[in-house]
Amino acid sequence: MAEAVIQSKSNVDFQRIREQFPVLSQQIKGQTLVYLDNAASSQMPSRVADRIDAYQRNEHANVHRGIHTLSQKATDAYELTRKKVQRFINAGHKEEIIYTTGTTDSINLVANSFGDRFIGEGDKILISEVEHHANIVPWQMVAERKGAKINVIPVDDHGDIIWDKYVELLTDNTAIVAVGHVSNALGTVHPVKKMISEAHKRDIPVMVDGAQAVPHTPVDVQDLDADFYAFSAHKMCGPTGFGILYGKKKYLNEMPPYRGGGDMIDKVSFEETTYNITPYKFEAGTPPIAAGIGFGETISFLEEIGMPNIAEQERELLEYGTQKLNAVEGIRIIGTAKEKASVLSFVHEDIHATDIGTILDQQGIAIRTGHHCAQPTMRRFNVPATARASLSFYNNKEDIDRLIKGIKKAISIFQ
Ligand code: PMP
Repeated sequence: MAEAVIQSKSNVDFQRIREQFPVLSQQIKGQTLVYLDNAASSQMPSRVADRIDAYQRNEHANVHRGIHTLSQKATDAYELTRKKVQRFINAGHKEEIIYTTGTTDSINLVANSFGDRFIGEGDKILISEVEHHANIVPWQMVAERKGAKINVIPVDDHGDIIWDKYVELLTDNTAIVAVGHVSNALGTVHPVKKMISEAHKRDIPVMVDGAQAVPHTPVDVQDLDADFYAFSAHKMCGPTGFGILYGKKKYLNEMPPYRGGGDMIDKVSFEETTYNITPYKFEAGTPPIAAGIGFGETISFLEEIGMPNIAEQERELLEYGTQKLNAVEGIRIIGTAKEKASVLSFVHEDIHATDIGTILDQQGIAIRTGHHCAQPTMRRFNVPATARASLSFYNNKEDIDRLIKGIKKAISIFQ
């Protein structure tokens, strides 16, 4: 609630907040867990788990269907999340908030439904060179179906998009720009507001993959003027199986349903079916109710800490981690963009990322190694894989010190 928002980071007790994540105090391989795989999935505070537990134990019923009290209560709790999400990302209307199962689902919805209606033969779909597979493959699939073509905005050696190339690639037959707000493999924060404004000069809509942005920084979809914005609950201390697609009404109202079934219809006969209004026409079948209600609690939790405070805390941790990592001999950070968020992707000149990850795991330190579902990004930077430590506001400098010590141990073992 607004009045509970802590106004300045100096008033936030991040140690106390960390204590609300029971998973972090467990022992792994005989040592307290250091969890640095937040870009893959972040941890859940007790109050969110408790909210889901309370719903499952005492409030469970299907939504939008029953006239009985329990179903109405479940519907109210589930729909309350829509209002909270609307406020959280400052959407103009609650009808512009579509529930999905996650970012991947949200992007598939846009690719299929927007694609059906607005992408035609010879059109161009513009994505960047450093997208997650979830923001590449659905577009390739629709391009193949429609006879459209994928164009790729290149990035420079730091991981920043090359602006002039981007502007050059915006042409009259560009049907949509689909770009990540923050790269999961590099941490680059793309200048999406500027990119959207440039695309809009030519009336080209922009979909932003915000999976790695919403958990780390305040996002205002109206200020960005994004046409679509996608994100996942599980990367922002919420449950798996739940996500959001924000879309401007002017597009959603024109777009056909993506999946058919219960809840998304108005009237059904064998001759003709008419559809429910937005957003329900995109929400076929029984949804993940428990996850949706849990996500509402997650948003309250994040709002009470304050997204600007979270961003500031993570910026400090990222700076600290970058400095420490750069000081380790043989380590090279991949992704050195001007503006970065919460990701430290790195390689060692002689040791494979997987070996580093394995040695770290033996010390109770969880990082991710591999291509991070971004194989074209790895190719761009000429590496088969990276080791990636990704930060959350509940991490601290001791976590980073343990990471650095762990990496040094891996180096001493392999050399
Ligand atoms: N986009 C980006 C930038 C991501 O980091 C991820 C998850 N790693 C996704 C999309 C896909 O998210 P999900 O698996 O939750 O659908």
